[in-house]
Amino acid sequence: MIYLDNNATTRLDPRVLEAMMPFLTDVYANAASTHPFGVSASEAVKTARQQVADLLGCETHEIIFTSGATEAINIALKGVAESYQSRGRHIVTVQTEHKAVLDVCGYLETRGFEVTYLPVQPDGLLDLEVVKAAIRPDTILVCVMLVNNETGVIQPIHEIAELAHEAGVLFMTDATQAVGKLPVNVDAMGQAGASVDLLALSGHKLYGPKGIGALFVRQRRPNRVKLPALLHGGGHERGFRSGTLNVPGIVGLGKACELAGQEMPVQTQSIAALRDRLEAALLQIPGTRVNGNREHRLYNTTNIYFEHCDSDAMIMGLEGIAVSNGSACTAASIDPSHVLLALGLNETEAFSCLRFSLGRFTTEADVAATVKAVKEVVEGLRALVG
Ligand SMILES: *Cc1c(COP(=O)(O)O)cnc(C)c1O
Repeated sequence: MIYLDNNATTRLDPRVLEAMMPFLTDVYANAASTHPFGVSASEAVKTARQQVADLLGCETHEIIFTSGATEAINIALKGVAESYQSRGRHIVTVQTEHKAVLDVCGYLETRGFEVTYLPVQPDGLLDLEVVKAAIRPDTILVCVMLVNNETGVIQPIHEIAELAHEAGVLFMTDATQAVGKLPVNVDAMGQAGASVDLLALSGHKLYGPKGIGALFVRQRRPNRVKLPALLHGGGHERGFRSGTLNVPGIVGLGKACELAGQEMPVQTQSIAALRDRLEAALLQIPGTRVNGNREHRLYNTTNIYFEHCDSDAMIMGLEGIAVSNGSACTAASIDPSHVLLALGLNETEAFSCLRFSLGRFTTEADVAATVKAVKEVVEGLRALVG
């Protein structure tokens, strides 16, 4: 199998599995237990928390372990809504966010909050003037993803964070597709040096295990974020998120963060070279174009429109090659990608696009075989249309 669906999930790195193994077998004690076995487990959690904090440039007490990015986003959005509603009940987000953000915002709308869903430009980027104009006196949060999972487009979140902070509004980012792939520092997002208040990430997008993620919540004064506890129980994770810790998952996430920090510079180069080669070859096919801004884009992703080709038919035809038609994250849905519609594609066009997302384990041979297979499938489908 050729796996070019790394934005949906990544393979567990064997080195991560190796780090996790003792905590799936011998070191099974509860990290909250005070006997020596429990202490071993809690030491491992401590190390992992440091590894995550090091990758993000934050303090360890600013990390809450969760079951993934979806949970982190739920805790952050619902928590901010509850804690800050006395200041206002307006939230600003973007039409191209992941469903984890959009669906929580939809829920908050049913609870009396007002949400502005900003449009993007045809290249997927936000217009800063549009962001600025959307912030109101009753706005409590601006939430913009760092890297889009379908197109790879990178939003100028440092400028956006500055706009939010100038207005005294919290800034949150879903950085699930960025952490481990781009340098992400919660204190200096980009040249402008603007900071983020809340950031969500997920282990399985950076070669860690599924079912583990983290939420960064700024705790350093004067910008301490107040969040209520949403999961009540034994008071784990400083009371924010009760429940016995997923020690193997946490250890795996920590190891994945450590590896990403070490290998990012080299892997950025090699993955980008393969993506560029794949993209250039696919664009040789007539009736193709790239969706989203090609410059402000994550180096592992290309989302391509193929005229007269239904994406489901292409995926079926590409036997043994895992790619996505963008709406994979909303697997149960047969709707066209909301991201591509927001870029201005019509429904037929949105159903004629494939996302190729490369990763640490992608090879030159994978790229060559994919180019060949896609060309054949496109020719086959177009022959049918006449
Ligand atoms: C995968 C993804 C999520 C959801 O992460 P889970 O850990 O699977 O809940 C959220 N946002 C983005 C941008 C993603 O790519």
